[in-house]
Amino acid sequence: MNLQQIEATKVILSSPQKIVIVPHKNPDGDAMGSTLGLYHYLKNRGQEATIISPNDYPKFLKWMPGHEHVVNFEKDTLHAKQLISEATIIFTLDFNHLGRIDQMKPFLEEAKATFIMIDHHQAPGDYADLMYSDVSMSSTCEMVYNFIEFLGHKDQINSDIANCLYTGIMTDTGSFKFLSTTSRTHRIAADLIDKGANNTQIHNKVFDTNTPSRLHLLGCALKNMVILEEYHTAYITLSQEELDGNHYKKGDTEGFVNYGLTLDGICLAVIFIENKEDGIVKISFRSEGDFSVNEFAKKHFQGGGHTNAAGGKSDVSLEDTAAYFVSLLDNYKEQLKA
Ligand code: 5GP
Ligand code: MN
Repeated sequence: MNLQQIEATKVILSSPQKIVIVPHKNPDGDAMGSTLGLYHYLKNRGQEATIISPNDYPKFLKWMPGHEHVVNFEKDTLHAKQLISEATIIFTLDFNHLGRIDQMKPFLEEAKATFIMIDHHQAPGDYADLMYSDVSMSSTCEMVYNFIEFLGHKDQINSDIANCLYTGIMTDTGSFKFLSTTSRTHRIAADLIDKGANNTQIHNKVFDTNTPSRLHLLGCALKNMVILEEYHTAYITLSQEELDGNHYKKGDTEGFVNYGLTLDGICLAVIFIENKEDGIVKISFRSEGDFSVNEFAKKHFQGGGHTNAAGGKSDVSLEDTAAYFVSLLDNYKEQLKA
């Protein structure tokens, strides 16, 4: 964020506003952590603020301070629409274009509010009036920490804010191991611990609350894994039937895609998850090294994300999607070298 934008933000936030904060659809730890962290900061500053999530989010995030006040657009549509139309400021966090909020998109497009984007994805859209977009950032949570610092209020980061922001930094960096993790990321995490983030408890609540059925589903996913040594690629499929058979709940498949990359010599890992209700196959891509899954997802699977972590979807069957994916790999053989 440049100085001019920071000054403009300070001016806007110096008077009472009606604020709506929006994460992307299927919000993850970073999306919920950043929106809740910002929410607590704004509330403590005396602002009226509400988080509206496009849909529900996983149970392993439903302990975060303030989560009970999040409005679910899918469930509470009328109330959410009213809040959006009355908002004077709309913050959009952890996504780069309005397509990422799906069914909420037309209502944000109609809204009269001033838009402020805070996000670390590539190719940001131009809908926001004030933009803090930086692809080098580990997480939107790290950016919310910076944002509060830009406004001169680092001393106002309390333990609620610290717990929320630490959560998203931890999940989006794969527990501080991805390339985007810098010494500053660690310094910020350390400062958040000083300010009350309970790091051990956060790790425990996010990663160590498995159900037996989730582990059974993981077993099924690992059994289904196909390894294409020639392309240094591993992919997993999960059909609706397999999900149902293992009592699938939102968030259960989080992290499954990463198992492919733990294989020696594999630099591209993918998971295809059938979603009969939406009539799509949801796809997650992960890579190690230079292969850009962001470009790959954008070009072939209506998606995007980051260089080493991206998502997308397909409108054909699970089998056809996987076959189409495999058919593409020969064009990338040179780039897919571990
Ligand atoms: P995940 O695979 O964990 O759902 O997402 C990995 C990254 O890709 C995240 O940064 C996420 O925001 C982004 N992403 C996931 N799905 C999509 C999609 O359908 N479109 C775009 N543009 N980005 C996505
Ligand atoms: Mn993120």
